[in-house]
Amino acid sequence: MKDDLKVGVFLCECGGNISDTIDLEKVKESLDVEFIGQFVNLCSLNGRKLIRDAIFDHGLDRIVIAACSPISHEKTFQDYIKPLNPYLMDMANIREQCSWVHSDKDRATHKAITLINASIEKIKQSDAVDPIYCQTPKEVAVIGGGIAGMNAALSLAKQGTKVTLIEQSPSIGGQMAKIGKVFSPVKIAEECGMCLLNPILNELVWNENIEVLTNTKVIEAERRGGTYNLILEKSPRYVDVEKCIGCGKCAEVCEIEVPDDWNDNLSMRKAIYRPFGQSYPEAYVIDMDNCSKCGDCFRQCNMKAIRLKSKSERIPLQVGSIIVATGHQLFDMDKRPEYGYNRYDDVITQSELGRITGVNGPTKGKLLKANGEVPKRVVMIQCVGSRDEKPDGHRYCSKICCTVALKNANIIKHKYPDTDVLICYTDIRTPGMFEKYYKHTQENEVRFLRGRPGEVVKKGDNFIVRTEDTIKGEFVEIEADMVVLSTAMEPSQGTKEIAEILNVGTTEDGFIKESHPKIKPVATDVQGIFVCGTAHDPKDITDSIMQGIAAASKVSEYNYGGVEIEPFIAEIDREKCILCGECVKRCNYKSMNIQDDEVYINPMSCNGCGKCLIGCNQRAITINGNIDEKITSTIKGVLSKKREGQRMILVFLDNIGYTAADNIGVNRLSYPDSIHIIKVISVNRVRPRHIQYALENGADGLFIGEFPGDLMYGEVERKIQNVKDRIAELGENPERITFSKVYIPYYSGLARKFIEFDKKIAELDEAK
Ligand code: SF4
Ligand code: SF4
Repeated sequence: MKDDLKVGVFLCECGGNISDTIDLEKVKESLDVEFIGQFVNLCSLNGRKLIRDAIFDHGLDRIVIAACSPISHEKTFQDYIKPLNPYLMDMANIREQCSWVHSDKDRATHKAITLINASIEKIKQSDAVDPIYCQTPKEVAVIGGGIAGMNAALSLAKQGTKVTLIEQSPSIGGQMAKIGKVFSPVKIAEECGMCLLNPILNELVWNENIEVLTNTKVIEAERRGGTYNLILEKSPRYVDVEKCIGCGKCAEVCEIEVPDDWNDNLSMRKAIYRPFGQSYPEAYVIDMDNCSKCGDCFRQCNMKAIRLKSKSERIPLQVGSIIVATGHQLFDMDKRPEYGYNRYDDVITQSELGRITGVNGPTKGKLLKANGEVPKRVVMIQCVGSRDEKPDGHRYCSKICCTVALKNANIIKHKYPDTDVLICYTDIRTPGMFEKYYKHTQENEVRFLRGRPGEVVKKGDNFIVRTEDTIKGEFVEIEADMVVLSTAMEPSQGTKEIAEILNVGTTEDGFIKESHPKIKPVATDVQGIFVCGTAHDPKDITDSIMQGIAAASKVSEYNYGGVEIEPFIAEIDREKCILCGECVKRCNYKSMNIQDDEVYINPMSCNGCGKCLIGCNQRAITINGNIDEKITSTIKGVLSKKREGQRMILVFLDNIGYTAADNIGVNRLSYPDSIHIIKVISVNRVRPRHIQYALENGADGLFIGEFPGDLMYGEVERKIQNVKDRIAELGENPERITFSKVYIPYYSGLARKFIEFDKKIAELDEAK
């Protein structure tokens, strides 16, 4: 490290996101550097000019950007500091990990000072290194065969990319296949959903670059460098799709009948069935949970297609990128018993109304009550589970329910002009072109009442919907023959499961989170994984398709543009290396091999964990980038600003854990300001001497977090236990060190762990 380095610090106000909570004047007063600049939005082009001018005017050779998270903007600022080398810049995260998690101005300001100081000390250890560019495998997995996933797959396939489309259910098509009619922003008319879906479906199944796997789910995922190794589980269909001609003779003889979930359980289907008329693959499937194994279908099938003894199979799949399109599910009406959904036959959901009014539905399109009569009065209740502050409700707006209600109201009015349709709404939300459709619906004599009903009760043959008319300010009781509930959209079970398997971030509502909704739409927190459709948040068909295509475009960019890899990986000194192969044996990531009498390192899979270093007796391996020195300096930087009586806990997280920690701030949860997060390239790089140094220099506690799916997890866990034993021998309390699992989707759990650890350290301090 040179002593005369000129460091410039740039403070970002982030349009008040930072400056409203952190006193930037105080921050400036406390720092001892060559130059300090402040700007309202450093990531803007004006910010870029400010940074470049300062570099030239003040001869700066190291830069600290005190702003948002490096997860969002590291690449931006690496570019903004040109002509300096990109790795001569460090970011102090004073937004996600400071102003968004702490509200006390004085404490947040002091924490910002410590974080910036840590960055200053760290960047002094940095040398200029060049980024490494690599290609990832071009194959893509699209998870979810609804309209978003289908469009993403098709777009990629047309560009020549091999796609595996993975669908959990027996057919692709998703929710759009059962929706009946759809609304469209440019037409004052309802269109046939299946007619719009079918051409896409046909094009998709004929495309040679797409392999469709139905009845299949991802059960394991491991990332190695830029490659995802997935394990898929394909459940048996019990019918050979190559042989089945879809004649349906099997279903004719099958005596088992069960509710048909495709028709929202409003009709029955056989145990051997085709999900819907245009389902793909065009073959029957056996629902083995309900099958009696009588063998009648087996005997009836002329094509010898029945395979009652099929077993599930595990399929390995290697891809370079993944698109998550796992869709949504509807709000569970058990959570709103006041509307009588499970008590009364004629209290139904909009989805059920869509099936009933669909020509391929249980009544062939006739709107009938359970007793077979046409309802004369239909009341629709909006925002059931959406914009709902009650327990189990969702605070967000499900975006499409207003337009869905308008559509279904219009369909009723077209078919049954005498039926009175009343929509009870909170606010009607019909953005953009849909406003015209709203006006059209009003002209169609659909009535509207502003007020969210409190309950639906049965009185004789009628329903009474009790509500407040919030415009007139009076309580009203509305009589109805049928009540239709506009239920919230929420993340599907498949979305929740895949978020956990792929370890991608989710919002507090459980949808897959975009890395940055403004500048990185459809990208998740994890490089190479993208999201589209209602797995991301509630949206209509048009937006789902657009997002599917956007995700495909981002995958192409990623596939063809290559991936930039941080250069902090192992390097071999060939003069010293005696080719003993010890490092090759030790590398958990299998990043090393011996080729042509040289140890070769795969930059895509080496994550700089440093395990190989320990095994090399020749000291022939280094990890680029002075990692050990940077960790020590960061610790020094944080602790040198410790105030009298202040509790300081250092948290070491790698990229995954750091992203989880960012999500705490993004979702505006909080944790104690004693928590200071230090990002490391691998948790394994935190050495016993770092821990000892931290404890000797004022750290009150150390929290080391690791994702259990990481190949180094077991090793790090053992290492921390050894460190605790050694610390105990030196007379320190080992309870001051903790090792914890960290998952990106469970950021609220991480916040809780920070709170608990802080409390524990406070108790240890008191006991002392
Ligand atoms: S009888 Fe055989 S060919 Fe016909 S639909 Fe059933 S499984 Fe397919
Ligand atoms: S074996 Fe199962 S699917 Fe086939 S006819 Fe019997 S019950 Fe139906």
